[in-house]
Amino acid sequence: MIAAAIIILGQGSLETARRIQVALEPGTLIHGLAGRVEGADVTYESFGETLRGLHRDDVAVIALCASGIVIRALAPLLQNKRNEPPVLAVAEDGGAVVPLLGGLRGVNGLAQRVGDALGTAPAITTTGEVRFGLTLEAPPAGYVARDPGASKAFMSDLLGGATARLEGHAPWIAGSRVPLTEDGDRVIRVTPEDRDAGPGALVFHPATVVVAVEAGDRALPDRVTRALAEAGLARQSVALVLARARDAARTEVHQTAAALGCSMCFVDAPSAEAMAGLAVPESARARPLATHGPVALAVATAPDAIQPVGRPRGRLAVVGLGPGSPSLRAPVVREELRRATHWIGYETYIRMAGTPRPDQVVLGSDNRVEMDRARQAFALAAEGARVAVISSGDPGVFAMATAVMEALHQSDEPAWHGVDLVILPGISAAQGAAALVGAPLGHDFCVISLSDNLKPLDVILDRVEHAARADLAMALYNPVSKARPWQLGRALERLLDVRAPETPVVLARDVGRPAQAVTVTTLGAVRPGQVDMRTVVLVGSSATRTFGRAADGGTWVYSPRWYGTGEG
Ligand code: SAH
Repeated sequence: MIAAAIIILGQGSLETARRIQVALEPGTLIHGLAGRVEGADVTYESFGETLRGLHRDDVAVIALCASGIVIRALAPLLQNKRNEPPVLAVAEDGGAVVPLLGGLRGVNGLAQRVGDALGTAPAITTTGEVRFGLTLEAPPAGYVARDPGASKAFMSDLLGGATARLEGHAPWIAGSRVPLTEDGDRVIRVTPEDRDAGPGALVFHPATVVVAVEAGDRALPDRVTRALAEAGLARQSVALVLARARDAARTEVHQTAAALGCSMCFVDAPSAEAMAGLAVPESARARPLATHGPVALAVATAPDAIQPVGRPRGRLAVVGLGPGSPSLRAPVVREELRRATHWIGYETYIRMAGTPRPDQVVLGSDNRVEMDRARQAFALAAEGARVAVISSGDPGVFAMATAVMEALHQSDEPAWHGVDLVILPGISAAQGAAALVGAPLGHDFCVISLSDNLKPLDVILDRVEHAARADLAMALYNPVSKARPWQLGRALERLLDVRAPETPVVLARDVGRPAQAVTVTTLGAVRPGQVDMRTVVLVGSSATRTFGRAADGGTWVYSPRWYGTGEG
């Protein structure tokens, strides 16, 4: 089920919004305009940006305002009707419910639910929906069209007066107003069989096939393809790949699921046949269970006849929030945060990540317990959870991605290695800071952390000196902390041994956050007291230049593209 958000512009809409909210999934929040609405679940500043952000994040939107406002706000984004999440406009008093977008993603069904909650008939305009109460172009979860392009013409024929015969089991068609007859001139066939539709027929594949596999053979994906072909089953009907828990980290198992484009579950059972039998008990089988070497195939009578077994493959995403502002955050990260069941991270970063829904579990902690956090994340993901481990900036720059990799490398637990692990990048503090003043890192540069928590001070100072000798521009992270206020001073001394006192230095504090402050100074003038742990320090190379900035009387800083070639 797609996530939804209710957006209101004025206090007068809150009551209607609450009536809608109770009819939708738990976790559907009411977003109220700051300064205009009190008592909403979340506040927002800009209507247009909020709407576009939710739309990009694939969240269904129910906006309590004139449809024109919604249309204008979303118009620049509308490109692909197949991928559009539902968008509904609802009159403030609940007197009108207008589905605007997302016809192929269930907007009419959502409109119906909202309409029912408000006692209002939704203004449904899609012809097929009005006449037949369904959209063949958008089958419900558990069914896919064998040829998605064919649905439209088929629907036109039905609208033109043709009748259809339904072969197979599909309550959503049987219960609709599609003109079904025993001797229809068209056929809607619902089958897991891999047969072409033939003239006048439309085929839907139900997700009724369970593929259970035993690892041990690199050619497993091919074996599964052959087994399906021998059984005459369509790949699109495969609902699930089952593997034994101890095989959770086997590459061939993962490749099999990837090739079929379906999810995986891990089960404690002795054989493929036993696993398939657990998922599709005999009473729910459409045909006898079949085994092909390490592959067992079970076909259920309907998608919902498949039993939940084992634990699903969990996901662990290490996400980078960027320096602060949500506008500097990658859409994939926002999407991951939205879909996660668990948020794990340093409490400050969790606050920066936004407002979790009530159904999301938040595990905040101190900044120093990175390995514990990484192990906790794997333990949860190995149980099937969808975990977002949250870092500021980029997760691979002095942040959680490394701890997560270390934890996995140290573990020989198949369940941990079987987790769907992804690292989603963010804009690092150095990049955010550099962009504020021009292009100080525009040529070769390096990134050094001055924290001596996990590396000796000698090594740090040695690296700083070598970087200075190599004439690299640099970004110094973790420049000071309460425990080591003197460290930056030592590093600056080393730098001054090598670099000229006029070398440009940028101090960027709270980049991308409300308290953002940037100072451009020089190596000779900078004092450690100007810097704290929320600052990143950029030090220029010998080629780095500065000049005045007209807009605010400030300074531009850049490292030219040429180096020692005499240009410029
Ligand atoms: N993963 C982070 C870095 C974490 S180390 C990233 O890629 O940005 C923490 C250090 O990063 C801080 O001590 C500070 O030097 C720097 N830093 C992180 N966010 C910052 C911000 N918004 N503004 C300035 N410096 C920041």
